Amino acid sequence: MALIIEKDEGLVSRLRVALLDWYDRHRRDLPWRRGARDPYRVWLSEIMLQQTTTAHAAPYYSRFLELWPTVGDLAAAPEEQIMAEWAGLGYYSRARNLIKCARAVVADHGGRFPDSEEGLLGLPGLGAYTAAAVAAIAFDKPANVIDGNIERVMARLYAIETPLPDAKPLIRRVAAQWVSADRAGDWPQALMDLSAAVCRPKAPQCLLCPLREGCRGFSSGKPEKYPVKAAKTAKPRRYGIAFLIVGDGAFIAERRADKGLLGGMLGVPHTPWRDTPWTAAEADQPLPGFRPAGTYEHVFTHFALEQAVWKREATAAEIADLLRRHNDWQLVPFAEQKALPTVFRKALKFV
Ligand code: SF4
Repeated sequence: MALIIEKDEGLVSRLRVALLDWYDRHRRDLPWRRGARDPYRVWLSEIMLQQTTTAHAAPYYSRFLELWPTVGDLAAAPEEQIMAEWAGLGYYSRARNLIKCARAVVADHGGRFPDSEEGLLGLPGLGAYTAAAVAAIAFDKPANVIDGNIERVMARLYAIETPLPDAKPLIRRVAAQWVSADRAGDWPQALMDLSAAVCRPKAPQCLLCPLREGCRGFSSGKPEKYPVKAAKTAKPRRYGIAFLIVGDGAFIAERRADKGLLGGMLGVPHTPWRDTPWTAAEADQPLPGFRPAGTYEHVFTHFALEQAVWKREATAAEIADLLRRHNDWQLVPFAEQKALPTVFRKALKFV
């Protein structure tokens, strides 16, 4: 059944005031909230906070500001130095976009961040969320800021039964009803603080919540049920045989093709991974005389692999012959197996 959510102007404006009052009393003291609102600082904190916690990002934020107090300073800094200071925050493509963005602000906007959501969206590395957050927090512009935490609060407020991610457009629509020019920059921050302290993923503290009066999730008695998540579908299963060729404290590994899964990494030679199990007659064995040693499972993002391990001790002459015939094969001492990804290290346990 389609969910129709009507806007109740009176209730929304009353609860909006209640949440902003709560925010005035309980707002978190975060480094990027101290001092005057500076678009550079807001932007820097928002980029750092993607995929990490406030506690983890805070020292990086302070260090960046110490080294590069303005966007111009950051734009002029050597890329290697910025990357080195970013190390530990992960997701290095964000750091590269950070540099590109700082340079674009200097080169194309005279060192000043655009003050509209549309203008901000044109900068490298700024998606819908970051552009809306910077427009609201730095420039006090009404913007519909939605991250996973605000999504949770909205899904609970309206008891949205549609599972994520299908519910996203509806969540965006209901969240827009709360956006207003009045304290436009405080509004998303108030929602963020509420989601961190009160409307937490587990055990929401509804009795402390200023939105409780209008919250359908609370009235349902099961607020933590929202947002509803789509049932996980079973991953497809694939099958392979790994050929473990060992001799003299070492095993044969192959350098995988650059493109494709685990591209360019070392692996144990194996049959193609396919939808049906292999029979001994089908598998193209590098040498005669392999013996089954066991089977293991490894789960990738898109499929689960069931891999049999066939093992064979090989003489020095056999190994030399194999290496001559396969340019991308090499002998790797067991002590160096850390160079292999987990899916292949699992095969080595059968030695
Ligand atoms: S009443 Fe409970 S579920 Fe509703 S917004 Fe507040 S904390 Fe979240």
